[in-house]
Amino acid sequence: MTLQSRLRDVENRLEQACLRSGRQREDIQVIAVTKYVTVRTAEAVVLEGISHIGENRWPDAKAKWDALKGQAIFHYIGSLQTNKVKDVVGKFDYIHSLDRLSLAEAIHNRAQMLNIQVPCFLQVNVSGEQSKHGLAPEHVKQFITELQTYDRILPIGLMTMAPYESKPEETRPVFRALRQLRDELNGMSILKEPLKELSMGMSNDFEVAVEEGATRVRLGTVLVGKEETEEG
Ligand SMILES: *Cc1c(COP(=O)(O)O)cnc(C)c1O
Repeated sequence: MTLQSRLRDVENRLEQACLRSGRQREDIQVIAVTKYVTVRTAEAVVLEGISHIGENRWPDAKAKWDALKGQAIFHYIGSLQTNKVKDVVGKFDYIHSLDRLSLAEAIHNRAQMLNIQVPCFLQVNVSGEQSKHGLAPEHVKQFITELQTYDRILPIGLMTMAPYESKPEETRPVFRALRQLRDELNGMSILKEPLKELSMGMSNDFEVAVEEGATRVRLGTVLVGKEETEEG
């Protein structure tokens, strides 16, 4: 399958999911996750008009960032170690994996040095799987309250990863719970600005995520394919 045909296919599926759920296509942003592909493919994706790029490790992302900075908006979607914050803050426009105060402090300090603010998604482990990062849903409210000390961080939404299901429909409760959590938090007036965004949905389950209110879908394999990267 060519890149163009994949893009068309994903676009059709997004439109169908919007129709089924009464949503507007323009309320959903596609982030092309390029971690499985070469710099050249990432460049081709941007040329096709997808300007949001997601990566989950800085060493792999570096060459793509060098090639595409200024042309693409970069999303850091992987778990972030505190000692890698200096590489990521200032280069990536969004961080999707804020899940602990020590990380918030490191991001805040780095952002202060650079005199910027960093829009962040709070990663929530809705499914409770051991292997997944993220805050427990019941800890998010407290976390947001404590986050207010770090005014260089702009909390803009929630992010989650659903468990891989051979029947994507089975991910629905996870996505629904994330939306309900966001709405609940917005109703509690603990935030200066309401959380608007829901970063949820990957290749296997993005249509369900869209039906449940995703505003950002993170699409790797289904959109850009999977190939040997130059790094091996
Ligand atoms: C790799 C990755 C994706 C994309 O995965 P696909 O299943 O290939 O679409 C999305 N989100 C996160 C956090 C990832 O690490």
